[in-house]
Amino acid sequence: MTDIPTGTGRFAGCTALVTGGGSGIGAAVVRQLAAEGAAVHVADVVADNAAAVAASVGAVAHAVDVTDAVAVDAVVAAVVGSAGSLDVVVHTAGVDDPQAKAWIREAGESGGPVDVIGRLTDEAWRRVISINLDGTFHVLRATVRAMRPQGRGAIVTVGSSASFDTLVGYPHYAASKAAVHALSQSVAKEAVGFGIRVNTVAPGPVDTPMAGRTPPSVRAAMEAAGALGYASAEELADNICYLASPQASNVVGAVLLSNGGRFTVS
Ligand code: NAD
Repeated sequence: MTDIPTGTGRFAGCTALVTGGGSGIGAAVVRQLAAEGAAVHVADVVADNAAAVAASVGAVAHAVDVTDAVAVDAVVAAVVGSAGSLDVVVHTAGVDDPQAKAWIREAGESGGPVDVIGRLTDEAWRRVISINLDGTFHVLRATVRAMRPQGRGAIVTVGSSASFDTLVGYPHYAASKAAVHALSQSVAKEAVGFGIRVNTVAPGPVDTPMAGRTPPSVRAAMEAAGALGYASAEELADNICYLASPQASNVVGAVLLSNGGRFTVS
């Protein structure tokens, strides 16, 4: 059984696993789940970040690359093995493409057209698709398998408003996140038969290290188009924790768009 202390609050007595918990939105979710009583496991490909975030709230850290299905299965097995159950899973691990962002920045500075699709390599395409989409598949499969015998559980995945308000120069990212929405909604329809709720949050621009890599021209256009500007990681953690909480007991297969208003930038 777990030796992580659980507290009082909405998640008292719950065991939670947060992928991508070493940074940004995931780290904010870790802090909120811990503050609201959960025993939290933090998983990230950057082991030092996972360890630092975990240490700050008395959680347990795991190094895992979500593109590695065997490693994902092993982490889920380790959590269930030590805690006896897995109540909440928040899958935030994901990437953008710094090279594509550099090309967008270049175009912004030169006043020329954006050319990402013409220069996108197979490797860059596969990296984004494998981390964002394959990773979500691996996490959903492993955690639904683990929760099914319990007959309960809540899973929240993270998509992006980029798949609705498609940004210029993000073809692989937008495609991966549109697929995350469809994958999560399809799994939600199956998993609810086992008492498991799957939902998704689709953030607009959020102030995290990922957003720090956004070209200034794109950031300025986003700021101008959005009613509320950039969100904080904590605002997204609020949305995610709501979907994971008993307050969302009747919410299944939702894609909650949290983008502060209209962010269409073309
Ligand atoms: P971030 O870069 O701060 O955090 C992402 C975390 O995922 C990092 O800790 C990173 O190490 C981890 N990660 C990356 N690849 C991994 C892998 N293969 N296995 C395990 N962990 C891995 O970014 P963030 O802004 O907090 O992003 C969190 C999620 O929100 C992502 O899925 C991102 O696509 C999505 N999102 C972010 C924004 C934004 O503006 N920041 C907008 C829409 C959607």
